[in-house]
Amino acid sequence: MRLILLGAPGAGKGTVAKMLTAVDGSVQISTGDILRVAVKEGTKLGKQAKKFMDAGDLVPDELIMGIMKERLKEDDCLAGFLLDGFPRTIPQAEQLKVLLSDLGIKLDAAVNLDVPRDVILDRLTTRRTCVDCGAIYNVKSAPTKVEGVCDKCKGKVVQRDDETEEAISNRLDVYNEKTAPLVDFYQREGLLMDIAATSSEVVVAAIRERTGA
Ligand code: ADP
Ligand code: ZN
Repeated sequence: MRLILLGAPGAGKGTVAKMLTAVDGSVQISTGDILRVAVKEGTKLGKQAKKFMDAGDLVPDELIMGIMKERLKEDDCLAGFLLDGFPRTIPQAEQLKVLLSDLGIKLDAAVNLDVPRDVILDRLTTRRTCVDCGAIYNVKSAPTKVEGVCDKCKGKVVQRDDETEEAISNRLDVYNEKTAPLVDFYQREGLLMDIAATSSEVVVAAIRERTGA
């Protein structure tokens, strides 16, 4: 399947994407994960992106489009892809449209995971992430077996730099201002699939029904 996953930070895009990759071998492409690896490795991209990310602001469109132009051409995308955290602005969506049409690729849907703001806030403040493999945990609902240690790779599990209360509140404002308009954009494109994202299992089932995967 070829999907865009839309939704506020903490809506569950990453979790749903990970579950869907198991269905048909589609690859999860998370711009957030790509950027965090770049920051950790101290590459030029990482250095350019870090200050925006720590503040909860968006990284400039040119940097993101540079990453995605290369990424979507890689062979593993032939099996399908789940775009998690991209596009995030109207210019990114417009440029993606051109890019996909150049590559001769058609999207199945843009899925909007709709989650109430209080649920989002609660999830983000309790979320913990493995610095090595990106696995996501939650101190309340899905804790690691050993505190601070990843179940999968034994990496260190921490609260992200952009998951302080201040950065979270900024990320939600940025989402409402810059990313929420994409819901209307994909509605006009005839691709929107709106889901009240109560549980990841329900979301995955609805997506499979729609895409036939
Ligand atoms: P979230 O949990 O907020 O969905 P992500 O892991 O997707 O977070 O992204 C983390 C940060 O990386 C964002 O706050 C932003 O600074 C940057 N980022 C990720 N994807 C994009 C994008 N498509 N455009 C601009 N900035 C991005
Ligand atoms: Zn790990």
